Amino acid sequence: MIIVMQRGASEDHIARIIQFLTSLGINVERMSGQQQTIIGIVGSSNGLDIQSMSTMDGVQDVVRVSSPYKLTSRTTHPADTIVTFADGTRIGGNAPSIVIAGPCSVESEDQLRRTAECVRKAGGRFLRGGAFKPRTSPYAFQGLGFDGLEMLRKVSQEFGLFIVSEVMEPAHVPSIAEFTDIVQVGARNMQNFPLLRQLGNITRPVLLKRGPAATIEEWLMAAEYIMAGGNQNVILCERGIRTFETAVRHTTDISAVPIVKKLSHLPVIVDPSHGTGKREYVNAMSRAAIAAGADGVMVEVHPDPDRALSDGGQSLTFELFEEMVCDLVRIGDALDRPLLIEPFTGSTTLKPRPKVSAH
Ligand code: PEP
Ligand code: MN
Repeated sequence: MIIVMQRGASEDHIARIIQFLTSLGINVERMSGQQQTIIGIVGSSNGLDIQSMSTMDGVQDVVRVSSPYKLTSRTTHPADTIVTFADGTRIGGNAPSIVIAGPCSVESEDQLRRTAECVRKAGGRFLRGGAFKPRTSPYAFQGLGFDGLEMLRKVSQEFGLFIVSEVMEPAHVPSIAEFTDIVQVGARNMQNFPLLRQLGNITRPVLLKRGPAATIEEWLMAAEYIMAGGNQNVILCERGIRTFETAVRHTTDISAVPIVKKLSHLPVIVDPSHGTGKREYVNAMSRAAIAAGADGVMVEVHPDPDRALSDGGQSLTFELFEEMVCDLVRIGDALDRPLLIEPFTGSTTLKPRPKVSAH
């Protein structure tokens, strides 16, 4: 932080600022030019909110010179974080980009099995499905809860898929982490700090969605909560932000991909289903995400989108999903970063769910 004093600020004002800071044990360095003085904070600010000093007499501005996030920053951790699963599947770095797909909500075992089969046959390895749903209306379908998670567990084992599902309550973190391979934090909960703190206590990877009105810095600060708690397995997910545009549900901020890649070492994926809210734009935004360097995409797929209990309008049909995967394979090949596609052998051997290692 540096405190920029007003042009011609009096010695009295400057001395008062310096004295205030040093009385709190904060080290300062004074730099005086011909007309203006700058006071730099050296080292820790001892918890003082320096920004609030901008209203003190003689102060023109308080400017931050280093980022407020440390653990998520590429400055402190230059190498890409790679989230690694027990079978060697990786997300991030130069690992093949991945596709996470499945219904918005788990509705029934049959719906989930048919979708899982489609995802697996297209070569996908990650099955998504909400069991606890954050819905705008309390009267809308709220999800099947733990019954839905049981269905996810059963079906994912049949097809050898990793499970991605959302947690909404801090108290559910340990149990949902047991059921899933990646725990999702929904956009509405990006700044649910008690939830983020709980997620810091586990080692399961966390897929942290960007809040619809969150800046990239706020998003990285949310990731910082999880990492500060001890969980280094964080995957960021851009899912569209709220803008003035009404042609789409949200605006997919593709520029967030290279920006986050520059600022942070964490993997970043894009969810163009929520990012557009319309099925017809999902493929184009997925292609754009992969082309922009995302580590993967997450899309909603449903056997009968018109009858979906949530987000049908943005859910791909099986046919559109297969088409999208083919397009992403071509984009990945063109850019020398292949898409993770594992041919389905038809084997349904039940393997114990892979455990995750911190990297
Ligand atoms: C979801 O993934 O179904 C979901 C509710 O997403 P978001 O939190 O991005 O709205
Ligand atoms: Mn959804």
